[in-house]
Amino acid sequence: MSLVRNQALQTALNRVPISVLPPSVKVSDYYNINVFNDNAMKSYLSKSAYKAVSNAIIKGEKIDRAVAEEVAAGMKSWAINRGATHYTHWFQPLTGATAEKHDAFFEPTEDGRSMEIFSGNALVQQEPDASSFPNGGIRNTFEARGYTAWDPSSPAFIMEGNNGKTLCIPTIFVSYTGEALDYKAPLLKALHAVEKAVVSVCSNYFDKNVTKAYASLGIEQEYFLVDEALFYARPDLMLTGRTLLGQSPEKGQQLEDHYFGSIPPRVHDFMVDLETESYKLGIPLKTRHNEVAPSQFECAPNFEEANLAIDHNQLLMDLMEKVGKKHGFKVLLHEKPFSGINGSGKHNNWSLITNTGVNLLAPTKNPETNLQFLTFFVNVIKGVFDNADLLRASIASAGNDHRLGANEAPPAIMSIFIGSQMTHILESLLGGKTAAKSKKALSIDVIKIPEILLDNTDRNRTSPFAFTGNKFEFRAVGSSANCANANIVLNTVMASQLNKFQADVNALVKKGRKQEKAILEVLKTYYNASKSILFEGNGYGDEWVKEAEKRGLSNVKTTPEALNAYVSQKSKDLFVKNNIFNAVELDARYEIMQEIYVKKIDIEAKILAQLATSHIIPSAIEYQGKLASNVASLKAAGLSKSLYDVQVNSITEIAKHVKVISDSVTKLINESDKAHHIEDTHKKAISMCHKVKPLFDTIRKSSDALEFMIEDDLWKLPKYRELLFVK
Ligand code: ADP
Ligand code: MG
Repeated sequence: MSLVRNQALQTALNRVPISVLPPSVKVSDYYNINVFNDNAMKSYLSKSAYKAVSNAIIKGEKIDRAVAEEVAAGMKSWAINRGATHYTHWFQPLTGATAEKHDAFFEPTEDGRSMEIFSGNALVQQEPDASSFPNGGIRNTFEARGYTAWDPSSPAFIMEGNNGKTLCIPTIFVSYTGEALDYKAPLLKALHAVEKAVVSVCSNYFDKNVTKAYASLGIEQEYFLVDEALFYARPDLMLTGRTLLGQSPEKGQQLEDHYFGSIPPRVHDFMVDLETESYKLGIPLKTRHNEVAPSQFECAPNFEEANLAIDHNQLLMDLMEKVGKKHGFKVLLHEKPFSGINGSGKHNNWSLITNTGVNLLAPTKNPETNLQFLTFFVNVIKGVFDNADLLRASIASAGNDHRLGANEAPPAIMSIFIGSQMTHILESLLGGKTAAKSKKALSIDVIKIPEILLDNTDRNRTSPFAFTGNKFEFRAVGSSANCANANIVLNTVMASQLNKFQADVNALVKKGRKQEKAILEVLKTYYNASKSILFEGNGYGDEWVKEAEKRGLSNVKTTPEALNAYVSQKSKDLFVKNNIFNAVELDARYEIMQEIYVKKIDIEAKILAQLATSHIIPSAIEYQGKLASNVASLKAAGLSKSLYDVQVNSITEIAKHVKVISDSVTKLINESDKAHHIEDTHKKAISMCHKVKPLFDTIRKSSDALEFMIEDDLWKLPKYRELLFVK
C-alpha cells in the first residue's frame, strides 16, 4: 500500500485512548474557575469598582479611567493567582477565527529587577495593526491602526496552555476611524437595538415592569472527528477542511445506526475532556451525542445571553481543536467535509427574554399574556418574511453552499416551520376571510393555546427556521461560521420590525381604536402579508422548490449572489437607520465576504489540481501499466484475446478517465487564471462560482470512478471508509 496511507492507517489503528479525569465529579466544584465572573470580581474589586463594572454590564454605562485602573489591578491579581503570565485582548476579526496578541505582565525595571504590570489602559484599549486583518478597503491612508476595546459584558477568562496561562479580555475591534472590523461591535449594537424595541413594546402594551430584555441563544454545534494521522494524509482535508475527492463508502448513513448510538470510547474520552475544559471557562455544555452521519457528533450548551453565547461558541471551537489534538483527533467544522453523507450546521436557538423572567416566545395558558406571545411570534414571521434574502445572506459561505442549494443539499429557500398547532391557531385567529368577518376573532379571550403545544411541539428537521415550542431555531447557519453574522441580521430585523409594529399600532390607536383591537388588527395584517413563508412539508423535497417559486419565495443558491442582499438599498436603509452599520462598513463587509469566497474556491482549485496530478493520475497510470504487462505476458503465452478482454477494457477505461481529469485540470487552471484577472471582486466571485467550481465535479467524478477500479494498494489517499470508520 502507498507508504503514507499505510503509515497513517497503522498510526490510527494503534492509537490508545487517553482518558483525562475531570478535576471533580461535581462540575460545580470547577465550573467558571477560569472566569473573572461576578464572584471573582466581588473578591478582587473594591465595592465601587465592582459597582462600576456591574453597571457597565447591566446598564451599559461607561467605565472611567480611574476605575479601569482599579479593575485592571484586581483582574491582574486574580489572573496571577490562577497562574497567568500573559494577557491578551481577545477579538473576532472577519477572518472567522479569533485573534490574540499576548503581552507579558512582566516588565523590567530600571534597577535591573522586574514587576508584574497591567494598567487600566492595557485593559481598556489596545492598538493592533488593522492592515493585517480583512478590512475591505477601510484603511486610512496614513493610519492603518485599529483599536480593540474592552467589552465588559463578556467576562475575561484564562486560557490554559500546556505550560502557561493567558488572561483573555473579550474586546471589539474597530478601525482608527471608528468603523467596525469585527463581528462583535455590530453584534452588540444589534442586541442593544432589539433590547430597546422589546422593552418598548412590552412596557407600552403589556407590562410596565419590563425595563430590560435580552436575546437568548443556545447554539448546537455539529462536527466530525477524524483520526489525525489519516487527516494529515489527505492534503485536501488538511488545507480546505473538506474532501475534494473520495468515493462514497459502501456503508454510509443508510442504516441510520450512528444517530444517538453509543459513543465510541475514544470519542467519549474526547467529549469528557472537552466538557471539562469548557466548564472551567463557564461554557455550560449540556448535551452530547452521535449525529446522523458516521463520525459526526453534536454538543449543545444551555442557552445564554446572545453575546456571551457567541463568545462561548467561538471559544468552544478553539477548545475542540486543542482538546482534539490531545486525543489524536482532528475536529472538522466544515459544513460538508464528505459528499454523500450529511453536512454539519450550527443550530441557533433564539428567543427574547425580559427582566421579569418571561420568555416572549413561549405560549402560556393565560389568554392575556398570550397576546404578548402572539405579538412577538407574528412579528418574527413578518420580520423574517420581509428580510428573507438578508437572512439568507447572513449564512452564506463557500462551505455552507454545499449544505444549501447544491446537489444532495436542501434548497436555499428561507421558510418558517411553526407546526400544525400554531398554524391552526394563527389561521383561525388572524387568517383569511372567515376570521376577518367575525368579531369574536378579534378578541383576546379566544387566544387559547392548547396545552399540548406547551411541551410537545412537533418537529421538522428540514426547516431552515423552525419554531420549537418556546424559541425559534435558525438551523441553516453553517457549522464553521461565527454565528454573530446571523444574529446581527436576525436581531436587527427584529428591532426594526418591532419598531414598525409600534408605529402601526399607535396609528390605529390615534384613529380611536382600542389598543388591544389595534394590536390584533396589525397582527392580522402582518400574518396575512407574510404567511406564504410558512411551510410545514419536507423542505428537502423537489416539490418544495416548485411550490416556493409559485409563492414568490427566493432560492438563491450561491454565496456570491446571496451576498448581494447586504448591499441592496433596503438593507442599507435597515442597517443605517438602526445604527448597526454605516454604508462604508456594509460595503467593506460585502467586499470582504466576496473576497473570502474567492480565496476559498481558489485554494480548493489549487489543491484539487495538485492532487489530481500528483496522486490520482500516477496511481491510475501505475495500475494501467500493471494491467498492460499482464496483457502482454498473456499474449506472449499465446492465450486467446477473450481471456484478457477485461484487462484491456480496464486499460481503455482508465485512459478515458485520465484524459478527462487531465483536460479538466488544464481548464481549471485557465479558468482560475481568467478569474484572477477580473478587477471587480463580486464578478470575480461569480466567475469562481460558475466557471471554476463546476470543474471540481467533473474531476471528482472521474477520480472517484478510478478509485473504484484501481487496485486498493496503489491508491495513495486514505479512503472514505478509513476516514469515517476508524476511531
Ligand atoms: P433539540 O431538541 O432541538 O435538539 P433542545 O431542546 O435540547 O434541542 O435545545 C436546543 C438548544 O436550545 C439548547 O442549547 C437549549 O439551551 C436552547 N434553548 C432552550 N430554550 C431556549 C430559549 N428560550 N432561548 C434560546 N435557546 C434556548
Ligand atoms: Mg435542535
